[in-house]
Amino acid sequence: MNSMKIKKGDTVVVLTGKDKGKQGEVKKSIPKAQRVVVEKVNMVKKAMRPTQANPQGGISSIEAPLHVSNVMLVCPECKQPTRVSKRVNEAGKKVRVCKKCGKDID
Ligand SMILES: [Zn+2]
Repeated sequence: MNSMKIKKGDTVVVLTGKDKGKQGEVKKSIPKAQRVVVEKVNMVKKAMRPTQANPQGGISSIEAPLHVSNVMLVCPECKQPTRVSKRVNEAGKKVRVCKKCGKDID
């Protein structure tokens, strides 16, 4: 499986589209599709079927997935949008490394 450089819980900034410049937390990553769902980003209206909990149905807003190439990780250390590289740390674990500040991200 393709591993993605962006994971659930990361903060990312949007690079393109109507939410360009927005930052949000990754709620879900979908490695197969190389997509991520980012909190409050790329909201789309969706018609909901009536359910027992919501018998009227209606329209609600949900986050549509974005392709990972449209977002960039915000480094938790230096707070800057950055590309990441990977390395194997002293414990033998693969970690991501911020290209701006050089700190491990995982
Ligand atoms: Zn950094």
